[in-house]
Amino acid sequence: MPQFKNPHRSTLFRLTTIAACGIGSLAMGMWGLQIAFGSNATFIPAETAGAIIAALFVLGSSCAALAFFAGVDESLQYVHQETQLDKLTGLHSRRAMIGRVATAGATTERTGESVFLIDVDIDRFKQINEAIGYGQGDELIRTFARRLQDALPRNAEIGRLGAGEFGILIKDDEIDLPIEAFVQALIDRLMEPYQLATHLQSVNVSLGLAAVTGDGDDPVQVLRCSSLALQHARATGLGGWAIFHPDMGRVADHRQWVESELHTAFERGDFHLHYQPQLDLQSGKTVGYEALIRWKHPERGMIPPNEFIPIAEETGMIFPIGSWVLRKACSDARLLPDDCFVAVNISPVQFMTRDFLTVVRQAIQATGIAPSRLELEVTETAMMQDRERAAVVLKELAGMGISVAVDDFGTGYSNLSYLIDFPFRKLKIDRSFVSRMETDSNSGAVVSTIVGLSRALGVRTIAEGVETESQATLLKAAGCEVVQGYFFGRPGPLQLRDSAETAAAASATMH
Ligand code: C2E
Ligand code: CA
Ligand code: CA
Repeated sequence: MPQFKNPHRSTLFRLTTIAACGIGSLAMGMWGLQIAFGSNATFIPAETAGAIIAALFVLGSSCAALAFFAGVDESLQYVHQETQLDKLTGLHSRRAMIGRVATAGATTERTGESVFLIDVDIDRFKQINEAIGYGQGDELIRTFARRLQDALPRNAEIGRLGAGEFGILIKDDEIDLPIEAFVQALIDRLMEPYQLATHLQSVNVSLGLAAVTGDGDDPVQVLRCSSLALQHARATGLGGWAIFHPDMGRVADHRQWVESELHTAFERGDFHLHYQPQLDLQSGKTVGYEALIRWKHPERGMIPPNEFIPIAEETGMIFPIGSWVLRKACSDARLLPDDCFVAVNISPVQFMTRDFLTVVRQAIQATGIAPSRLELEVTETAMMQDRERAAVVLKELAGMGISVAVDDFGTGYSNLSYLIDFPFRKLKIDRSFVSRMETDSNSGAVVSTIVGLSRALGVRTIAEGVETESQATLLKAAGCEVVQGYFFGRPGPLQLRDSAETAAAASATMH
């Protein structure tokens, strides 16, 4: 812990002040004595009374002075702890880190030594905290902070910048690996599960890196740069980390705009749903529709979900939006043929909340659709945040008769053991495998393996992002049961659902 020293109040200064107070009080005491008793005091000699009062004055004022300065010291210590240290972890506070960055900047300018500021953030910490409770959330932060300290060289300065966000100041010559390898090793270590009192908690982390250049940079600006790099890493999902580039400022402005506009957009009714058909590959029949949200802004036009869903997740706007999607899709399902289901995307943030099942139940009750006509698309990442809770939620959903498809299968978690514990009905093969099937034999092998795996588990497979006839043929040969993609039908408003295009594409592949 850094030692604090008050430069303006040395011991000599304090003693001098106390002595001065004492002498001042003595003089005042003498004066008071003269006024109070003068020559009329009879019960004790005026000189003795004067001496006693003056001595008391001296003692009192000296104590007062001592207490005052001790108090000053204590409050300085208190202020230091409040402002410079993070109470939960004992690391530097955000304010202290700004000071450290300023110092690092000055040193870099003098010595030419490179220093990096790394911003590490636990993805969706707010939601994790709400789901596991604040006590366990604190424990997660403390354990995370300890692991961070263990993983870094001793001279690295570490601070807590936000709830689940940490800053690291590290000199280039203290990093004994190429920066890419160093960052990746750090991410891997931080993403190992954390043992909490009741369960093993998995987290995802994102990381942004900015160089402290020392050419007069405002330290707050350096922090902003590392934070922009972090947001960029998170938004693009590029393996969890990014190095700052000036273009990121413009992206951040757009994000800021989206964030400020989401609430109004929701209230104004800018959102609507498009539906994309899912077809049975054997019969060519449409068996369901995936609901995909669309935001049409009155001035800026269409804003794709990938641009606003992550921001809605961070700000909590995903709750009203997600509930609305669920209810609207269930209500629209009544307009679809009776033997078709609607598939609704569930954000990991929604899936983790305590009232998620209630929201689902309410949507079903309010719209009166049969639960078997609702399918929820949940990603592996969402299920892996808290496996035990996920297992309970999935069991409840299965009990209600609602089917769950594992979305983007193959891109997330590598440990497949969860497939045995979790009740779900479908694996949805990610588009990235389908799009490479024709050119890359490995992707074809992955698809066949997933189909084999689902058969062994007794669940169905659906392939997404099917764009060509030959992809559809390869999928059929691999034994995939359901398909979805531009080749069979693009997402569109409800009335376009049975376009002639879909039927023609389907029949071309089936026969
Ligand atoms: P996703 O769940 O993987 O949805 C499939 C995405 O692939 C959709 O993009 C769809 O339009 C697109 N797509 C479908 N067929 C093809 C194809 O053949 N080729 C290509 N290249 N793309 C195809 P979209 O609508 O832009 O949605 C993107 C993502 O946004 C979705 O990915 C999903 O994660 C999220 N999303 C969309 N709607 C919702 C929603 O209502 N709630 C939540 N939580 N997330 C949503
Ligand atoms: Ca989906
Ligand atoms: Ca998907």
